[in-house]
Amino acid sequence: MTLAQAAASAAILARAEAAYLGLALGDALGATVEFMTPREIAHHFGVHREIVGGGWLKLKPGQVTDDTGMSLALGEAILSSGGDVLPLACARAFDAWMRRKPVDIGNTVRRNLITFRQTDVPVAPPSDHDAGNGAAMRVLPVALATLGQAEAAVRKAVQAQAHVTHHNAISDAVCEFLTLTVQDFLQGQALPEMANRRIQSLLADHPELSFRNRPRRENPSGWVVETLQAVLQGLLDTDSFEHCLVDVVNRGGDADTTGAIAGMLAGALYGPQAIPQRWLEVLDSRVASQCREQVRALLPTRRR
Ligand code: MN
Ligand code: MN
Repeated sequence: MTLAQAAASAAILARAEAAYLGLALGDALGATVEFMTPREIAHHFGVHREIVGGGWLKLKPGQVTDDTGMSLALGEAILSSGGDVLPLACARAFDAWMRRKPVDIGNTVRRNLITFRQTDVPVAPPSDHDAGNGAAMRVLPVALATLGQAEAAVRKAVQAQAHVTHHNAISDAVCEFLTLTVQDFLQGQALPEMANRRIQSLLADHPELSFRNRPRRENPSGWVVETLQAVLQGLLDTDSFEHCLVDVVNRGGDADTTGAIAGMLAGALYGPQAIPQRWLEVLDSRVASQCREQVRALLPTRRR
């Protein structure tokens, strides 16, 4: 069976759906405790494990934030381009999303989209400072649309979407790692294989991302290095979807974004049966159906 045929298989479709719903669920779960410290979270919630809304954004239970919103905007842009990841289509979709006054938006995203409005150039200027997690949180539609393609083509598509707002080497490295890892999981690879291969090569190229034999990464900032450290520690220290997300968001800090990224990875890894029903029941139903529709439309053999 070729990879394109495999993409059509029920198992891949189910894991892809779990990844997209996992992204939205991690966003909704984590947003409640975004910018809180683990001590504050423990004081208020004991362990934060229910999707209850609130937080500094005063969300409704099950409401999502920019992490899911920008992913859905990117997915629409890819679909409108026949499955290709074209910088101009991505920039226009992000700009249209920004005009709809989302509940939150990252500083780097806002700054570079405003520049895009002025210049019509859909590639942000390279910057050593733009290493926030804003491009990494929205990689999933690219992972779905490029499933089965050669690694070089995947990396190129990843950069095309990322550079619209984040033109930075460490952001690129994390975006590429996350995209390829989600694709590994969608195709049935297990955690130890991924950990031994992808993580080793990532850390060989970028030792600053090292997260093993380090203290528990708490209060992760929006810096993509700390985001990845929190997510990978949580993913590798747990053995279920729910435990992974609960571990990651209770670290506080940029918890909606670490939650979203962890939810994407854990959804692809553990599949739909692992997602708690009580979480799915509160997730914004419009968002849930958009996620499901995009998965079906974005996976390669479904599109053509
Ligand atoms: Mn957010
Ligand atoms: Mn965030």
